[in-house]
Amino acid sequence: MAGSIRCHCHGKPECRLCGGEQFYPYQPGPRGWMPFTCPTCQGTRVLPTAAGEEVSCFTCKGAGSVDPGNPPYDPGWRGALRVGWKTFFGGG
Ligand SMILES: [Zn+2]
Ligand SMILES: [Zn+2]
Repeated sequence: MAGSIRCHCHGKPECRLCGGEQFYPYQPGPRGWMPFTCPTCQGTRVLPTAAGEEVSCFTCKGAGSVDPGNPPYDPGWRGALRVGWKTFFGGG
């Protein structure tokens, strides 16, 4: 059951996760919704700028990984729903 997850980057064309589409497809694995290494920063949490500085990665918000079960618009009731979801699919 694949789904479209809203990307943290809000549609940046430089984003390697959604490519600027704002949403990316995600297929929950046998263990449910698992965080994965951010493809934009390769898990380094920062991105180099043209000025030679490092800024917090816009795809993972500086986390180094992306949690498909925790999209940016996630309010409380969805969080509760997610816990139930993980219990159901990820209980093992
Ligand atoms: Zn993105
Ligand atoms: Zn990142």
